[in-house]
Amino acid sequence: MSAAQRIDGKAEAARVLDSLRDDVERLREQGCAPCLAVVLVGDDPASDVYVRNKVLRARETGIESVEHRLPANTSEDTLLTLIAALNADPAVHGILVQMPLPAGLDEHAVIDAIAPAKDVDGFHPANVGQLVLGDATLAPCTPNGCLHLLRQVAGDLSGKHAVVVGRSNIVGKPMAALLLQANCSVTVVHSRSTNAAALCRQADIVVAAVGRPRLLDAGWIKPGAIVIDVGINRIEIDGQPKLVGDVDFDSVAPVAGAITPVPGGVGPMTIAFLMKNTIAAAVRQQAMRDAIAA
Ligand code: NAD
Repeated sequence: MSAAQRIDGKAEAARVLDSLRDDVERLREQGCAPCLAVVLVGDDPASDVYVRNKVLRARETGIESVEHRLPANTSEDTLLTLIAALNADPAVHGILVQMPLPAGLDEHAVIDAIAPAKDVDGFHPANVGQLVLGDATLAPCTPNGCLHLLRQVAGDLSGKHAVVVGRSNIVGKPMAALLLQANCSVTVVHSRSTNAAALCRQADIVVAAVGRPRLLDAGWIKPGAIVIDVGINRIEIDGQPKLVGDVDFDSVAPVAGAITPVPGGVGPMTIAFLMKNTIAAAVRQQAMRDAIAA
């Protein structure tokens, strides 16, 4: 029996998307149809599923979407030319290039090429800088979704000790920046940390973004802590494919105060916050056009 509150990211994401529909309606009334361009290079099956889900959610939310599917042998020049065209297209408000890119394409060069105002993933150095300064307009979707869930469960996060497990540019580092901005004391634990479990056991809040199936068991968790599991790991159990997180749910649930499941936790929040960023980008671009026209 699980003692922890199960944090329903799917239901919360549906609520966020519902509230965004009104924003889209208002924008459309002002003559602006928010539009997300999604670029997929290659045929990675997981990336294909992510892209299809993003396009589907965009449509359901009233956001226009355009898909650009390029073969795995696409040159960097071709990809950068497409990004330049999307940057210049006034009908496109958000640009998402699905990562990882096939070998031979430089992810940094591609991220750098996206106009910061259209960088709805929040990965461009200009947006990362704003995030660190505590002034993000386009914060990365996954950590922003995690922060939203934490606020739903715990309200004000001030003074709480948060441990982020993982220090990637797309999850761990921006998560730490957002928690710091929310007045938490933040510890980042990574592959070179000594005694990661003992550090984690001190936390009121644990965010696991490691990519190691069920790494965190009950021994990592202080009783009553809130546990957010970002991990999405595809493994086989009894010959059947299964999605599991970085947290061993069955071990941790009796100890934690609240915990996100995988699937149905952080994943849907990521897409909801991508839609939120697309609308925020559209609002800002529309305001700039109005200001120039005035
Ligand atoms: P990554 O591989 O870029 O980074 C993993 C991090 O974990 C590294 O910083 C590394 O130092 C740390 N690490 C590795 N082994 C460790 C250990 N034993 N102890 C402590 N730290 C350790 O991964 P990522 O891109 O941050 O993704 C992490 C996980 O989150 C993956 O499973 C990924 O699929 C998932 N993910 C989910 C979403 C979502 O929407 N739910 C979004 C992005 C990533």
